[in-house]
Amino acid sequence: MEQPIAVTRQSFDDWMIPVYAPADFILVRGEGSQVWDQQGKSYIDFAGGIAVNALGHAHPQVLAALVEQAGKLWHLGNGYTNEPVLRLAKQLIDATFADKVFFCNSGAEANEAALKLARKHALDSGNREKNQIVAFNNAFHGRTLFTVSAGGQPKYSQDFAPLPGGITHTPFNDLAAAEQVINGHTCAVIVEPIQGEGGVVPAQPQFLQGLRELCDRHGALLIFDEVQTGVGRTGSLYAYMNYGVVPDVLTTAKALGGGFPIGAMITTDKLAKTLGVGTHGTTYGGNPLAAAVAGEVFSLINTPEVLDGVKQRLEWFIAGLTEINLQYPIFSEIRGAGLLIGCVLNPEYAGRAKQLTQLANEEGVIALIAGPDVVRFTPSLIIPEQDVKEGLARFARAVARICS
Ligand SMILES: *Cc1c(COP(=O)(O)O)cnc(C)c1O
Repeated sequence: MEQPIAVTRQSFDDWMIPVYAPADFILVRGEGSQVWDQQGKSYIDFAGGIAVNALGHAHPQVLAALVEQAGKLWHLGNGYTNEPVLRLAKQLIDATFADKVFFCNSGAEANEAALKLARKHALDSGNREKNQIVAFNNAFHGRTLFTVSAGGQPKYSQDFAPLPGGITHTPFNDLAAAEQVINGHTCAVIVEPIQGEGGVVPAQPQFLQGLRELCDRHGALLIFDEVQTGVGRTGSLYAYMNYGVVPDVLTTAKALGGGFPIGAMITTDKLAKTLGVGTHGTTYGGNPLAAAVAGEVFSLINTPEVLDGVKQRLEWFIAGLTEINLQYPIFSEIRGAGLLIGCVLNPEYAGRAKQLTQLANEEGVIALIAGPDVVRFTPSLIIPEQDVKEGLARFARAVARICS
């Protein structure tokens, strides 16, 4: 057989469109919550592929589901349905408020579908003026033109103008401000129950309750973007279940496939009728290979053991991080829910989250940032205690370096 092409981190700079600035090493293998680079160096993975690898790497049952389906049927296209996608739909319906499911390949696509559904639903009601979308400052909903415009960070959208219109942004967790902009022209409000990319900022319960009431009053759809918070991340299957506020439409992706690309928009029977035959679609959406993997991931995560285990693991993290912070007071706050953890840097260390994660890499741990001032951890939901301890010990060495 021909030798594979030799690749190094330099190859990225040589060959890739530079929208990312990846770390200066290349990971080649993973098992559970450990990964190894080209040189054989080991890392504890506290990032989980940005809240995606919710069962770690190479989970034996997920791997078996992938291999089994890979030997049967990979793809058909939506002129033909398939068994794995129907089973996955039923799993989502049985576990949530929803009656109907649309599958796609990413979080952005799930949100794109949700926003399109909201626009068409309002139009179908006969009100041509009811097309306004309310979204929140610092929100993140993906990178398609519609979803990046709904996102609340102009730096990600402004260079791509003209942007889709009819989107208003208002401060997160400020119900009085939301009340000023939600009215009879509003077709949808889109919100993350916990802003992930925006800094791991949980919504206050009264805020989400208030949005629910405003949407009901004005006939607008409440869309929860649970792309990051979904599939067990917060210790509930979906974060809306913690809040006791039920949306009209929910989007889920990231952990849904445990590393295999898949997304979904779920909604009620009544709203699902909006998107009739031919109104929306995507080639790969509900592909049998993706659906078979997601079905296995979903049934493994949606158990009391795994969901309660998330709360247990949060305690391990809080204990370890509190200890680090006693020795080196670097964090002003540790926030989030379950295994979506944001460590906010003290003003003294403002802007240095990226540097801290780079030092963490050197010490052998993978961590994320959520903006310049927040270090974020989104590990596997089943990370063993030993890996939490070892990863935090390595992280502590990185903290010590930045604090000395
Ligand atoms: C990651 C993310 C998205 C975008 O998902 P992609 O799969 O990258 O398109 C959307 N919303 C939230 C809340 C996210 O965290």
